[in-house]
Amino acid sequence: MPETGDLRCQTENVSPTPAQRAQAAAIAAAIAEIGFVLPGTLTERPMRCGHRNCRCHADPPALHGPYHQWTRKVAGKTVTRFLSDDQLADYSDWFDNQHRLRQLIGQLEALSLAIVEADPRGKKKPKTTPVKPGIPSHNTVGAARLTCGPAPDHHPISPGHAQT
Ligand SMILES: [Zn+2]
Repeated sequence: MPETGDLRCQTENVSPTPAQRAQAAAIAAAIAEIGFVLPGTLTERPMRCGHRNCRCHADPPALHGPYHQWTRKVAGKTVTRFLSDDQLADYSDWFDNQHRLRQLIGQLEALSLAIVEADPRGKKKPKTTPVKPGIPSHNTVGAARLTCGPAPDHHPISPGHAQT
């Protein structure tokens, strides 16, 4: 991970610690090795065909397949496709990669959350009043805190000062 910003800023902030930075770098390296990722889920699905006299309609039925059904959400709708045996052989790793990626993202989120939780600046509630709905909320409140250097004098934000 390249270190950017001035060093004074990094010594002022206790967190993230060097260990936390190393953890984040390790997770990023693992993500970089994943390769291709397919969304959705694969299920093995026995199927019935349309021929009434087929064995799949017998009692007990001898169903076809199982077929490799791939479902995923596209714009809120479930999209279903079937993969052939050789397609499954080619792509099944990509579904495993999806799970691996989600695990790693979860680890990175947990690590990042721990850093924020340990930040003493987050302990007290801001004295400012929430911006009313309808008024565009630009990121003026607290934005200066994310930058390096000495904190500017902190004035409570009154509606008259909320403009950008
Ligand atoms: Zn059949």
